[in-house]
Amino acid sequence: MDLYAVVGNPIGHSKSPLIHSMFAEQTGETMVYEKIEAPLDEFNKTVTHFFAQDNGKGLNVTVPFKEQAWELCSSRTERAELAGAVNTLFLDERGQICGDNTDGVGLVADIKQQGIELKGKKILIVGAGGAVRGILQPILKEYPAELCICNRTVSKAEALAQMMTGLGDIAFGSFESFSEAFDIVINGTSASLNGELPPLQGTIITKNTVCYDMMYGAEETIFNQWAKSQGALKVIDGLGMLVGQAAEAFSIWRGVRPQTENVMTALRSM
Ligand code: NDP
Repeated sequence: MDLYAVVGNPIGHSKSPLIHSMFAEQTGETMVYEKIEAPLDEFNKTVTHFFAQDNGKGLNVTVPFKEQAWELCSSRTERAELAGAVNTLFLDERGQICGDNTDGVGLVADIKQQGIELKGKKILIVGAGGAVRGILQPILKEYPAELCICNRTVSKAEALAQMMTGLGDIAFGSFESFSEAFDIVINGTSASLNGELPPLQGTIITKNTVCYDMMYGAEETIFNQWAKSQGALKVIDGLGMLVGQAAEAFSIWRGVRPQTENVMTALRSM
């Protein structure tokens, strides 16, 4: 049976096997999806061994290996090239390892599924780490009216804005430097993981602002709690992004696009 897996360290918490098994059941695809905890210094060996198996067809890659996966690939899609990180691996027609990054399209698909258009919107992205780098091109492809990035380390926001020159203009600054209202604010920092809140100005949020925290959890994230307290129209967490990136990977591997709504409902009820 065709074999797929997610590789990370640690990996015990990963919801990917559950998500992909729901996709397989829904689409009638016959496959197995496992999780693999690669030793921190043996990522390449783990991947090589996986694809050396006759039935090893595809891998998802998660923390902390996404950059190593990018290095390891023989070829990459354009969006993976720009993202500087790879979360989906598969074999190309020559049998060589190709890397893609489906995180950004997963985010965009989730936002659109919630009935929110990015086109013509004024968007602020908070954070300038690996995940934010991966979402910039997919967001710019939606033609926002304005895209801004703020980060604790401003030079990293500046570097990302420069990297995307040619795809679209991106304004950058510190957390405190943006005070005007935005239509959409996306938190791509890992601050929420530690229960911390970037020192953003409350004036960026109005009753028409949609806020999206790329983090997710059983409880509402601290960023989304703050956004609500500022009167945001709607707050969304990153579970839909996780399911969206998985759906994109599944369709790359199997050529069938699964529905995500019922999977989201099932995950929320667990
Ligand atoms: P990185 O480590 O690459 O980047 C972390 C970012 O958070 C940097 O911009 C960093 O700022 C900022 N940051 C960290 N701590 C604080 C703090 N206390 N206050 C303010 N800013 C802070 O992480 P990733 O980009 O890989 O991940 C970011 C988030 O996105 C995580 O929460 C992760 O869980 C989530 N994510 C969700 C996905 C999903 O499917 N839902 C997929 C991928 C990621 P500085 O540059 O100054 O250090």
